[in-house]
Amino acid sequence: MQLFLSDNSVFNLISEGISEGIIVVNKEQIIVATNSAADEMFLYDKSKLIGQPLETVIPRRYHQGHGAHVNNFVAKSKKRQMGKGRDLHGIRKNGEEFPVEVGLNPFKIDGATFVMALVIDITERKIKEKELSHWFRIFDESLNEIYVFNAQSFLFVDVNKEAQRNMGYSLEEFKTMTPYTIKPEIDRNQFLKLVAPLQNNEKAKIKFETTHQRKDGTLYSVEVHLQLSAMGDTKVFVAIILDITDRNNYTERLERKVEERTIQLTDALAKERELNELKTRFLSLVSHEFKTPLSSILTSITLLGKYTQTEQQDKRDKHVTTIRSKVKYLDAILNDFLSVERLDSGNTNYKLETFPLSKVINEVVYDANMLLKIGQKINYPEDIDDLIIEFDPKTLELALSNLVNNAIKYSPENATIDLNIKHVDTNIVINVLDEGIGIPVEEQKHIFNRYFRAENALLTQGTGIGLNIAKQHLENLGGTLEFSSEENKGSNFTIIIPISPINNI
Ligand code: ADP
Repeated sequence: MQLFLSDNSVFNLISEGISEGIIVVNKEQIIVATNSAADEMFLYDKSKLIGQPLETVIPRRYHQGHGAHVNNFVAKSKKRQMGKGRDLHGIRKNGEEFPVEVGLNPFKIDGATFVMALVIDITERKIKEKELSHWFRIFDESLNEIYVFNAQSFLFVDVNKEAQRNMGYSLEEFKTMTPYTIKPEIDRNQFLKLVAPLQNNEKAKIKFETTHQRKDGTLYSVEVHLQLSAMGDTKVFVAIILDITDRNNYTERLERKVEERTIQLTDALAKERELNELKTRFLSLVSHEFKTPLSSILTSITLLGKYTQTEQQDKRDKHVTTIRSKVKYLDAILNDFLSVERLDSGNTNYKLETFPLSKVINEVVYDANMLLKIGQKINYPEDIDDLIIEFDPKTLELALSNLVNNAIKYSPENATIDLNIKHVDTNIVINVLDEGIGIPVEEQKHIFNRYFRAENALLTQGTGIGLNIAKQHLENLGGTLEFSSEENKGSNFTIIIPISPINNI
């Protein structure tokens, strides 16, 4: 400082020692002294500001108001800070404006009034403030919920707008709460464990999924991103929350879809496997079941050709009967196979017809007669011509011929097969009774399973298909198929069908 203070070395020392700029003006607002900090701040060579009007360091746009302001200030002669509530600016020699904070100190020397202005360049502070407000806006206006809470007490310190809106608590309310207050699935101890890796500096951030409970009690799924930070000297946790309700719903939906598809795929695979199994079985059945009758047909035909004499007619008849019965048998097996295929593919076409029951009975018995062993006979009622039913005749024939053929197959020579028919209420009850090998008790529960054959039947030809498809067809048309049997005594198979169709066929 120069001028009137130049000889005051103590003052000089102090003014040069401080980092704030000092500008002293007289009553006319002419600069009478500056320190080096002020010279440097305004980019003037040492003491070059002295003698200049104060307006030299004030941007033009403030000039008008400024003079009056200072005059007024000088008149009141009070020490104070200038421009409270307003942004003040200085102007450097190169025309650059910069924000300043100014403290004014009036004083008198020898009756003359002076004002000493302490000027601080606050450019850096303003930049920081701007940055801070920028970050604060990001924090407050973020559409993710952001929570800041004390790392010791866990009490919330700050909570952004979105969190307040979504959760329904005010900031004041939040300040009495902790993260575990709003997490019904996590208690204090669990939370302590959760944040331990952050507190021990083992991890820089952690992420976990949980549920948040709003003030109104409703819940929503969240993903929490948590990290340790500091507010001044206080350690705080910053938590950014993502609402993952949609994601969870989507994941749930996706999982359900995958589950559904897996089940469908497993079903399709099982069906495929079953089909393959069926094919394999079919091939082995064909080779076993078809070969024997076919070779016996072949033998009969060869022999037929040899019986050329007239008196050998009974021999020819015997072979013709054999051929006819074997062809019937093959035809029956083929029908069974076709039925399996139709049942499995859902392609069964039932045709309901009104017909006398005797028609089907006679056909079945007629065909069965060709299969009878020596001395076997079938008793069947011949007085049922007036019993008219409405049913699918093909299905009834298939079921009944399976039962009668079995009765023949599994009975010894000279055995009798009884076919009883009763009219009970709205149903027809048909019983096929035989005196054959019967079915062992322990195997009875499997008897309607496809391909199942009882141990005692294995020496007899068969496929294990007949009962299975007969039962399925009858049940599809509102009927039933049941049996009772005693090993080595005989069996009793019962078909029950409605006289008229049930409604849902
Ligand atoms: P299969 O072609 O083997 O006769 P079915 O489905 O008609 O096939 O019968 C399944 C099994 O039930 C037979 O293999 C046999 O063990 C038993 N079965 C059926 N009917 C009788 C019966 N009348 N007497 C003894 N066992 C029978």
